[in-house]
Amino acid sequence: MKPVIAVVGRPNVGKSTLFNRMTKSRDAIVADYSGLTRDRHYGDGRLADREYIVVDTGGFEPDSSTGIVKEMAKQTRQAVAEADAVIFVVDLRAGLSAQDHDIARYLRTANKKVFLAANKAEGMSESPLLGELYELGMGAPHPISSAHGQGIRSLLDAVLADFPFDEPHEEEGAGEQPPIRLAVAGRPNVGKSTLINTWLGEERLVAFDMPGTTRDAIRIPFERHGQKFELIDTAGLRRKGKVFEAIEKFSVVKTLQAIASADVVLLLLDATQGVTEQDAHIAGYILESGRAVVLAVNKWDAIDDYQRETLERSIAQRLAFLKFAPVLRISALKRQGLGPLWQSIADAHASATRKMSTPVLTRLLHEAVEFQTPKRSGGFRPKLRYAHQGGMSPPVIVIHGNSLEHVTDVYKRFLEQRFRDHFKLVGTPLRIEMRSSK
Ligand code: GDP
Ligand code: GDP
Repeated sequence: MKPVIAVVGRPNVGKSTLFNRMTKSRDAIVADYSGLTRDRHYGDGRLADREYIVVDTGGFEPDSSTGIVKEMAKQTRQAVAEADAVIFVVDLRAGLSAQDHDIARYLRTANKKVFLAANKAEGMSESPLLGELYELGMGAPHPISSAHGQGIRSLLDAVLADFPFDEPHEEEGAGEQPPIRLAVAGRPNVGKSTLINTWLGEERLVAFDMPGTTRDAIRIPFERHGQKFELIDTAGLRRKGKVFEAIEKFSVVKTLQAIASADVVLLLLDATQGVTEQDAHIAGYILESGRAVVLAVNKWDAIDDYQRETLERSIAQRLAFLKFAPVLRISALKRQGLGPLWQSIADAHASATRKMSTPVLTRLLHEAVEFQTPKRSGGFRPKLRYAHQGGMSPPVIVIHGNSLEHVTDVYKRFLEQRFRDHFKLVGTPLRIEMRSSK
């Protein structure tokens, strides 16, 4: 599981600036976000190969002057409760205020590992305030400059030092196929526990307990038709004896963690509720994670033909940015549509891990260019020379050539479709990167 780091502090100390620094490397997504409200308080980040989730408490707009302090305290408490570690940001230029002391007092009782970041420290290495910060009782301050990117790495090194790495996937069971890690995501009441219990109750599906599971993490290994799966804990689910039980509280962080550690995410929708804002949010997180995804509309049994038609349209519109994902119609309660669902999950996983050779990719590229030449733009005609696979889960295709910065988005989508069709890629994002040589 990725560790969750909360960034807290009073307004204007530079929390959002730090948040942006910590999440910077994660914006190259080939996708259309229209119709999706992004939740800016959560972000994915990475330091070398260590990944983490950041929760930011800045940026909210207090609507009444009386509510500011209370609202801030609430935001801070929520973020801290969800976090594995806390970065407490203070402003080295402004010095300590009563608010800083309030937050420090609260953090001392929160029983979390706290790292004190003295922000705006550029050119201030001699500041007498650095010594004063020890008063907060949070240990040695880490001088940083979020605006200039100084000291961030050593701060994060310290924060991440205590967390174990998720071991790389390949190392599991030498020679054996690793299990497909599957997360079942969705709002409360969409039917997650019903579906999982139906699965685990099926005869052909052998579930077994795994000893020594950490914290409250749920990981259930099972096998179906010779394919090994591992079910990952998801927001709103708790294991009670042999069955799963829904819990009311929905946690974004739990969802993000589950998505991050999954190979395939099954996003459940509730046919009787349509596509809600929260569904779209979760779908957005999945898209951003680059994970393989299958959409299943549960409770299909409970709606009539007219409602079904309306629902299909609203999925196509509101989740347009996930249109590469197959949409299954199921009833967990009546055990309908579950066979095809397994097939889609396996297909999505196979697509995400498909190997695509350089000669085949290059041939497909040349055929595409022959079929439709990229437009000339600003006096340049892009020259697409060859392609190679740059990664898996999600698959990345790197195209080499000249003047590739002039390749239009429309043309990129055209290429994507050609590659998708040939390799039968479903249920996974496909990223296309252009690398021009001079
Ligand atoms: P937040 O309210 O805590 O989220 O603070 P912001 O990130 O919005 O930053 C508040 C102000 O401090 C902005 O004007 C930033 O440009 C500025 N700021 C943030 N980080 C630094 C820094 O490292 N050095 C300096 N000099 N200013 C900074
Ligand atoms: P969770 O919170 O996502 O785990 O949802 P639950 O599995 O607890 O299901 C919430 C409610 O939806 C329960 O009353 C279930 O009986 C009901 N439900 C689950 N799946 C179906 C289904 O396929 N059809 C119908 N009609 N109801 C369902």
